[in-house]
Amino acid sequence: MYDESTAIDEPEKTKDKLLHELKESSHAPKFNYEATDMLSNAGLELVRKFQAELKELRLDKDLRGEFMCRKLRGLLTTASREIFNYMDLDELKVDVNELTDAEIMDLLHKLPFSKREDLAQRPWKHIPISESFNDMIVYVTAGTTAEPMKVPSHPVTTGCYSPLLLEALHQHGIHPEFSRDDVGICLVCFQEKTVTFVTRLQMVHNSGFMKINIKDSEWRDPLDPYRYIRQFQPRLLTGDPFSFSELAHLGNLLEDAGDDGGRIQPEAMITTAVALKDGIRSYLTDHFDAKVIELYSLTETGPVAYSCRMGHGYHVLPHDIVLEVVDHDGNPVGAGDIGEITISGGRNPYFPLIRYRTGDWGRVDRSGTCECGDPMPLIKDLEGRQPILYHTCNGTWINNRDITAVLEQFPITRFHFHQDGSGNFHLVARLASFDKMTTEELLESALQNILGNTARIDVKIDPKLGDSNRGKVIPFSTEYPLFYE
Ligand SMILES: [Zn+2]
Repeated sequence: MYDESTAIDEPEKTKDKLLHELKESSHAPKFNYEATDMLSNAGLELVRKFQAELKELRLDKDLRGEFMCRKLRGLLTTASREIFNYMDLDELKVDVNELTDAEIMDLLHKLPFSKREDLAQRPWKHIPISESFNDMIVYVTAGTTAEPMKVPSHPVTTGCYSPLLLEALHQHGIHPEFSRDDVGICLVCFQEKTVTFVTRLQMVHNSGFMKINIKDSEWRDPLDPYRYIRQFQPRLLTGDPFSFSELAHLGNLLEDAGDDGGRIQPEAMITTAVALKDGIRSYLTDHFDAKVIELYSLTETGPVAYSCRMGHGYHVLPHDIVLEVVDHDGNPVGAGDIGEITISGGRNPYFPLIRYRTGDWGRVDRSGTCECGDPMPLIKDLEGRQPILYHTCNGTWINNRDITAVLEQFPITRFHFHQDGSGNFHLVARLASFDKMTTEELLESALQNILGNTARIDVKIDPKLGDSNRGKVIPFSTEYPLFYE
């Protein structure tokens, strides 16, 4: 007997009033993707456990130390049995469970470093062989300070992002009231192409989540991105400083056109870049009347640190990582000295961090509780990653991610892309040794598609790029003045 009231054919999402409104608003963009947080009940439990541990262990150094030793013991056992990169190491031919906590830390420090290049070129050497691939999500990083790469991740790993974000907000005295009737978080992108969708996040009180691209080709009207976000007033905006600046700029254009619908009023803005310039910070706080919190986060590691409320640097955010600071040759630097930030631990089953060299430099201050009240170590003088914008000859701005997307189509192993002060572009690229097809002309014409037909692009293929000992090749740089300068 067919009974309409119990029919399950009606997809749950069409009954979801908020998601329906988000998709059907007259200001809505063309969303190009369907997604959820992919958290099963079991996964949700794991993220909740992570959140409870985060709260407790951030405050208690001794408990955190014990937890970390337990975690590293498990990690090193897995490495010795299941991760190709470590299985054959003599250092790991010991019974890890017989070692004391101090010996566990010593053992960790004897293991080789892992680097971005290792994961980019030989990911299988870093994934435990017993892990099921069923839940794997793959992110592609844009790489502002290194080549793009694919990073395997898991829904629980991604799910832990929300508690970390909320913890950073709490440390700033911000406690947003999330509700399933509202949008909690809006991720603002400003790039040529990216996936866009709306969904709900179970870990954020099941509130709405939107990922949008304010690039004008996605919208019915160029000012709609501002109208759309304003209509739903998300509690938090996350994104990079350029996306936020462009959004503020659209708001100003609306006001200039006589619109009196008010402004987007988030409770906080979280930028994924660190060391914001004062100019851009005050531009954003003026427009949105909200605090800007900087998050030091890498796709490979997840969030690492957030900007201290009192401006003393960046507090380590998760309780489940250990930091080492090393010099160019991998030797530990003196306490408080500058060096490369190296991370072990984390919560990604497909890429457990073992002495992962981030490529970012800073000093770590472990001297005790900060003036702001947070007892976690501080990273100071952090030279983190900044997204970079390029000015095309069509007068538009594009993100370095858009350049990455073009160059990814070629077997490039290293490159340096630069815009000089007069607006001309320069690319130096090193090709994989197997490549016999790519020419300077092909690269130039691919870049012209995005930079404009009249763009002056000087392309050089250099088979030795990066071989010198003068540090690593920085993929993106610019000397061209930005739109807010
Ligand atoms: Zn502090």
